[in-house]
Amino acid sequence: MDFTITKEQEELKAVVREFADKHVFPRVVEFEANQEIPPEIVKEMARLGLFGVVFPEEYEGLGLDPITAGLVLEELVRGDPECSLAVAFLVHTSWGHIACKYGSEELKEDVIKRAARGDLWIGIATTEPGAGSDLTGISVTAKKEGEGYVLTGEKAYISGVKEAKEKGTWFKDGGGHVTLAYTDKTKGHRGMTLFFIPLTDPGITVRLEKEFGRKGWSFGSFTINEVKVPEFYRIGDEGKGFYIAMEGFDHARAYIALTCAVAGKRALEIAAEYTKQRRAFGQPIAKFQGVQFQLAEHWSRLEAAHALAYKALWALKMEQEGKLNRFEVTKIAASAKLFAVEAAKAALDGAMRWMGAFAYTEENPVALAWKAVKSYDWAEGSLDIMRLIVAREVLGKEYIG
Ligand SMILES: Cc1cc2nc3c(=O)[nH]c(=O)nc-3n(C[C@H](O)[C@H](O)[C@H](O)COP(=O)(O)OP(=O)(O)OC[C@H]3O[C@@H](n4cnc5c(N)ncnc54)[C@H](O)[C@@H]3O)c2cc1C
Repeated sequence: MDFTITKEQEELKAVVREFADKHVFPRVVEFEANQEIPPEIVKEMARLGLFGVVFPEEYEGLGLDPITAGLVLEELVRGDPECSLAVAFLVHTSWGHIACKYGSEELKEDVIKRAARGDLWIGIATTEPGAGSDLTGISVTAKKEGEGYVLTGEKAYISGVKEAKEKGTWFKDGGGHVTLAYTDKTKGHRGMTLFFIPLTDPGITVRLEKEFGRKGWSFGSFTINEVKVPEFYRIGDEGKGFYIAMEGFDHARAYIALTCAVAGKRALEIAAEYTKQRRAFGQPIAKFQGVQFQLAEHWSRLEAAHALAYKALWALKMEQEGKLNRFEVTKIAASAKLFAVEAAKAALDGAMRWMGAFAYTEENPVALAWKAVKSYDWAEGSLDIMRLIVAREVLGKEYIG
């Protein structure tokens, strides 16, 4: 594994860094206060092609690999340690990739091309009021009817519901979610199928939750009241939805690991600057060895988390090239998420402590990063589920089913 990056990757990073430094970082506190990312920022991301990074060129994307998508994400998180832009980017990139890989040609022409242009956002909806970690508990159903399927039920705690429902504000055509449903409940997880559901459909009603952090990107539930989708909105074969969803989680978890490592490092940098300015007992608090040693410990763990996140992105690339098997990728991605979330939470806790009472305000990007990273205790699979996956891959399925 080689950490050097190409000239093209360097150039792309520089473009995103300039955008993030100039247009994003100065407005992060505003994202949280107004509970939305200003539409012009999302539109600029689209103009720069950032919603099309991993989609093939024939579908109007940039045709780049997961490592390069990681380099883009890294710059977005440096600009927005509150992580709303990261959610917008990583969910769309991961689940858009899955829709593209398993979707029909008509779906690619209709949905993927618009997603790659940044005209339509793609989210994920597996969770329901009665089912999170244990997806066999979902109750959304999809019934075959004529040339399509009719879906009914409710999804809960879903990111990006507002941005997908509202046409024109952030995305010209709003968006939709890769949604898990039962096509045959008697078969358990082998009876599940994935569909693309446009949230702009009048049969979808959205309800927003009051988020705890990363408030710039919405979070809520949606009810699906007999929504008919064409057959070509099915993603993969009937009965394969659970397995395809697991592959999507690997992508999202690798990007999440990177998000947490970078948000943690960015917060440590901000806090380190603060400790140089802030004085107590006659000297800058950066001169206290208690602060220095903790800073070094957290920084080292985050360096390790950062490297492991890139290993997970590398694993996704290797899998795409047929050089690594799925189970290995799943194990690395779950380890990366587990390690990075824990390392970043500990680092952010330390960084907040050094910033004193100022840390405990909504004006402080370090506190906003802490709230964002905390969401990854659960989002795209809880840390306990990461532990189960890693243990299963190490011990074998006969020990953990
Ligand atoms: C900010 C945020 C954004 C989200 N966005 C989305 C989204 O866009 N789309 C989407 O589909 N979902 C989304 N989710 C939901 C997320 O995927 C779920 O929260 C997650 O899968 C856990 O499910 P749950 O919350 O129902 O917890 P539960 O499944 O009820 O679990 C509760 C606790 O029990 C633990 N637990 C469960 N089973 C086991 C076990 N076998 N062994 C040990 N411990 C266990 C879990 O680790 C957890 O700590 C989001 C969540 C958050 C917080």
